[in-house]
This record gives sequence, C-alpha cells and structure tokens, in this order.
Amino acid sequence: MKKKKIKKRMSKKLESKNLGRPYNFINGQWKKAGLGGNQFENRNPATGELLGIYPQSTAKDLEEAVEAAQKAFKSWRKVPVAKRGEILLRAMRVLQEHKEEFAQTMTREMGKILSETCGDVQEAIDTAFYYAGEGRRFFGQTTTSELPDKFAMTLRMPVGVCGLITPWNFPMAIPSWKIFPSLLCGNSMILKPASYTPDSARNLVMVLQEAGVPPGVVNLVYGSGNVIGRALLEYPEISLISFTGSSSVGSNIAEICGKKMKKCSLELGGKNAQIVMEDADLDLALEGALWGAFGTSGQRCTATSRLIVHEKIFKQFRDKLVDQARSLRIGNGLNPLVQMGPLVSQAQLETVHQYVKIGKMKDHAKLLIGGEILKEGEYERGFFYPPTIFVGTPEMRIAQEEIFGPVVVLIPVKSFEEAMSIVNNSRYGLSGSIYTRDVNRVMRAIQEMETGITYINAPTIGAEVHLPFGGVKQTGNGHREAGVTVLDIFSEWKTVYIDYSGKLQKAQIDA
Ligand code: NAD
Repeated sequence: MKKKKIKKRMSKKLESKNLGRPYNFINGQWKKAGLGGNQFENRNPATGELLGIYPQSTAKDLEEAVEAAQKAFKSWRKVPVAKRGEILLRAMRVLQEHKEEFAQTMTREMGKILSETCGDVQEAIDTAFYYAGEGRRFFGQTTTSELPDKFAMTLRMPVGVCGLITPWNFPMAIPSWKIFPSLLCGNSMILKPASYTPDSARNLVMVLQEAGVPPGVVNLVYGSGNVIGRALLEYPEISLISFTGSSSVGSNIAEICGKKMKKCSLELGGKNAQIVMEDADLDLALEGALWGAFGTSGQRCTATSRLIVHEKIFKQFRDKLVDQARSLRIGNGLNPLVQMGPLVSQAQLETVHQYVKIGKMKDHAKLLIGGEILKEGEYERGFFYPPTIFVGTPEMRIAQEEIFGPVVVLIPVKSFEEAMSIVNNSRYGLSGSIYTRDVNRVMRAIQEMETGITYINAPTIGAEVHLPFGGVKQTGNGHREAGVTVLDIFSEWKTVYIDYSGKLQKAQIDA
C-alpha cells in the first residue's frame, strides 16, 4: 500500500518534470536556469529522437547552488550518521519502485541495452543499501595511548561542500557511487552530470528528494564541462572535487585542484587486457572476451580492449571470436533481442572510426571484422558501430590508447611472462584478467598485474559495489571508490586524544 503511494507520487512528479524541462535542482527546488538562455538537446543515440532540452547553466546558477550547499552543510553534518543512512534506505526503496522506468529512460538517452541499464539502476540500489548499512558502522579506531590516563581515538568528519563531475556511461551508478557515500559522511554537494544523460541525473536527484534529503544538501546543475565543470573547480567554498571521466580532463582537474590545495579524487581511463593461456577453458574465455569487449558497446572504463592470447590456441580462439562477434545482434537497446546498442554520440562514433583508420593505415594492424560505420536501414539515424577485431602488436596506438568503443586488438604471445609484460606495458592500470587453470600462474598474475582490479577466469568488467574500485598509473590518483574505501574520499580523519591524568603529559619528548 505504502509502496503504491510512493510510486504514484513519484510518477506524478516525473510527469510534471517531463513536461517542464529545463530545470536545475537548487536548494530543494526545481529551478529554471539563469538568463544565459543557452540550451542543449538530449537525443536518443539509436533513433535521433529529441528527448528533452536542458539548460546550459551560467555562473549565476552555480553560485546559487554553492551558497545553498554551504548553508545546508551546517545542519546536515549534525544529523546522526544512522539517520543519514535511513534516508539512503528510503532512496533504495524508491529506486526499486522505479527501476524498470529509469532503465528505459537511460537506454533512450545513452543507448546501452535494457538488461545493462537495469543493471545500472540496480547498482545504485545496491550502493544505497550498502551505505545505509554503513550508517550503523562508520567505524573509527580506538587505541591505547603511550601515556597513562590518556585515551585515543579516530573519527570520520565530513569534508564540506563537494563538487561531483560524472560521465555518461553509467549515468545512475556513477553519480550514486559518489552521492550516497558523500551524503552518509555528512557532506553537501553539487552534481554536474554529463550532458548526454541529463534525464538519469534528474531521476536520481528526484529519488533523493523523495527520500527526504533536506533542501540544499544535494544540488544538480546542468551545463558543459568547460563552463560549469571548470567553474566548480574555482570555488574556494568547494572543498573536494570527485571526478570520473577521461584521463585528459582528469589531469587538468588535478592540476587546478593541486594549485588550490583542494581534495581531489579521480577515476579515469583504462586500456584493459584479458590474457588467455593455452590451458584455459576456451569457451569460457571466449564468452568473457565477447562480454568484456562488446558489452556496453565497449564504452566502459573497464572494457576489454586488448586480448592477449597464447600462440598455441591463438588461431582457434581468433576464429571462434570472429564468428561469435559477427553474430551479435546490434540495434536499439529497447529491443530485448538486441545484444549491443549504439555509441552515445556522433562525436564518439567519429572518435572510434578514427581509431579504426589509425589501426588500418598507420599501425598496419590486420582488421578481421567490422571497421565500418553502420548506416543502412534500422541504423540510419543512430550512431551504430559493429564489433571490430584487429590482430596487432603491443606498441600500436590501437593497443595503447583508450578507444571507448567496440574495438579489440588480439595479440599473440609465446609465454605467461610475455603476456604479463604486455599487460603492464600501458599507461593505464584499471582492470585486467587471466584465463588459466594453473594455480601458480593465477597467483603470479595477482601479484604482478599492475591493475587496481584483477579478475581470474572472468572478464575485465563487472565490479561489485562493496569492494574498492579504481586503478593505478594514469587511471587515477590513488583513491578507491565503492566499498568502505570511498569513505576515505568523502571524509577526513580526526584524531582525538583525551587526557584524564590532570597533569601535563608530554608526548614526542625523550624523557
Ligand atoms: P569526459 O572527461 O569527457 O567528461 C566527464 C565529465 O567531465 C562530464 O560531465 C564533462 O562535462 C566534464 N568535463 C569535461 N571537461 C571538463 C573540464 N575541463 N573541467 C571540468 N569538467 C569537465 O569523459 P566522458 O566522455 O563523459 O566519459 C568517458 C571517459 O570516462 C572514459 O575515458 C572512461 O574510461 C572514463 N570513465 C572512467 C571510469 C572509472 O571509474 N575509472 C568510469 C567511467 C568512465
């Protein structure tokens, strides 16, 4: 009964918002963006259909959001953590009620197939559940002091106002990875979502409104990275920037935050590899490779873009991979039979195609399948690209640079050592995988693979919300989202000493 009521109320709100775009969400109100008047369109990448028009916000809009967040922080930080967790539990329930509808919206605006967008919303649900529970833990440490009659402990303190900048490929999951733990830690925040996925960001913020997050604690400001994203970095009132996106933008953000001594967490690109050894279960490795390389049309930071295959099984693996990739059904992600949707935009389509040209003409890699933009029939109005497979060498640009599309490079190797050195010959270090039945190689791969995430007999994609997520090298700056580790991003440790000896006791002195 209660569930039905919530659903009805939310659906009413969704309806009215759907009619009334363009809106930012500032201080608990859906507000028209400032007087700049510039707007951007949200279009379905499979059909070209216009889904909505959103504001390119101005500095004035952002200023209002920063002020609201600053004010709200003062009272939000005092709400007991367990109560903040209860709000997340309510958010989880509202998300569950609307899972299917949010997934449909997401597929419409960014293209990935329905089972994947349902997975994206589910990840937000799981994240809400996990951090709701964390509200009853939120552990610090108690420890002994080196001095008598003295007590020592650590507590997590909120960071303040957070600027959250997110990409389009996980339009609900990634904002939820930032917003939910940040809320739990007692921060207020401004979300600047990617312009390709404004509807999913709005749905998520509406869920939080419905769940009872007080006005000003979560603010949503639409706009371009160059205007609103950049401006967020400049505000001294914003204590932390949490960014997920490309390494080039991330490095720029790190530079600015470094100069301003702003806390900054970066989740960036990847060039992930799957190794297939000669003793692997080949069918399992094939299934993993297809899913890792072509799931989400290759638009995942963890997508498999290098397949490093032992020469003894190379030909067999290559032929089967090409056969199975050819049979993948490409189309509108709303069709339940479709296995691979479009790319998100014309720009992404051009980037991917440009890399394929580099692969063919500059790297002189051997193209086995794909490599042409799909334009005929049902593909006419969308940004469709087929599964594309090259045979290449480790130094080629297509084997070194992030492509972010359904393109994979097969690289033959003679040994485990060679495979491992190719995996590690990358500026990125997000995810890596090995298929083998040899326990010694498994253990060595775990030790030697220079990645934040290592999978054994599983593809490079498929993170779970209760474990740390992030990478080494140019994939990030040493932080880990998800799990309990994300709390280290969104809180500051405070060390407390309580001296009840009634006299001056000196530490750091050689008595
Ligand atoms: P992007 O870097 O182009 O944009 C990400 C966000 O940053 C968007 O909201 C954008 O508007 C904003 N932005 C752009 N320029 C900015 C600037 N100068 N200052 C501040 N903000 C700015 O990335 P994208 O195309 O949206 O996403 C794809 C990239 O994200 C890929 O490189 C992918 O690997 C990466 N990614 C990483 C992870 C991870 O967890 N490591 C997860 C998903 C995606």
